[in-house]
Amino acid sequence: VAKEAGRNGYQFFMKEMNARVSRRMFLENNLRRALERHEMYLVYQPQIEASTGRVSGVEALVRWNHPEEGLIPPDRFIPVAEDCGLIEPLGAWVLHQACRQLQDWRDDGLDELMMAINISPMQFRKPGFTDTVRSALHSSGVDPRCIELEITETLLMQPLNDLDSRLRELTAMGLTFSLDDFGTGYSSLGYLKRLPISRIKLDKSFVADLPGDVEDEAVTRATLSMAKDLGLHCVAEGVETPAQRDFLSERGCDTLQGYLFARPMPEQECREWIRHHRRQQRRA
Ligand code: C2E
Ligand code: MG
Ligand code: MG
Ligand code: MG
Repeated sequence: VAKEAGRNGYQFFMKEMNARVSRRMFLENNLRRALERHEMYLVYQPQIEASTGRVSGVEALVRWNHPEEGLIPPDRFIPVAEDCGLIEPLGAWVLHQACRQLQDWRDDGLDELMMAINISPMQFRKPGFTDTVRSALHSSGVDPRCIELEITETLLMQPLNDLDSRLRELTAMGLTFSLDDFGTGYSSLGYLKRLPISRIKLDKSFVADLPGDVEDEAVTRATLSMAKDLGLHCVAEGVETPAQRDFLSERGCDTLQGYLFARPMPEQECREWIRHHRRQQRRA
């Protein structure tokens, strides 16, 4: 019986493995064509200045609308793109698209907005990364001071000889950096002092159970107080309730982002959302 069960277990395992491998190959093959076939697009989520309620910027988030599968979330295909060497062209496309969008909005009268763009650690490490950024800035004509690159602790954890100099080169071009998913990695806090990072984004896993969860409250308070001491701005992601908003803004969180304010939206919808929000602000 044990032998039988063992064999079944093994067969089950192989079946799972095969399913996973073919799923991955499917994604990989389709990913290659996705950009050419215009199956990728960006959505934009507003970021709100806590003290004024003003929209200070948006974060660009990539979407893949697969012709048969429908919407495939980035958490599923970004890792595949990283594994099969497609993160470079995909990342470059995101950079160009987001920069062009911001300039387009500006030309249309929507000013004073920042555009935050997610950068995969693997993308940042490619030798051509700085040139890709330069090219996106150049071809869109956007003001580099309005572009913020979101990097993660993972990037800081692995050695990269010229990490500092690359960050500084991009900073010298006018770009700013934020540290995404803050608190989920294991980066030494020393990095924050040493590197040109201007904002940290408190991960949404710490925000979800605010207020009330003693540990998440402690992490949040510690992060906010450290950010303040180091002169960093703090952005909270995943803000879904007024209670979370109040907890965070009462404790000095600078910027809020989450479904409470707006979901990530396609460009037209986001443009209208920001216009409407600004009109309401002026009235108030
Ligand atoms: P992230 O950069 O930390 O983005 C925040 C995620 O939280 C987004 O998921 C966003 O849609 C979601 N979110 C926003 N507000 C709320 C909220 O109130 N509640 C909850 N539960 N979630 C909220 P999304 O768009 O699925 O992206 C997931 C991750 O995929 C991103 O996490 C980022 O790491 C990666 N990603 C997305 N777009 C890009 C991209 O263009 N390039 C790269 N390299 N990575 C990207
Ligand atoms: Mg992000
Ligand atoms: Mg995040
Ligand atoms: Mg994330």
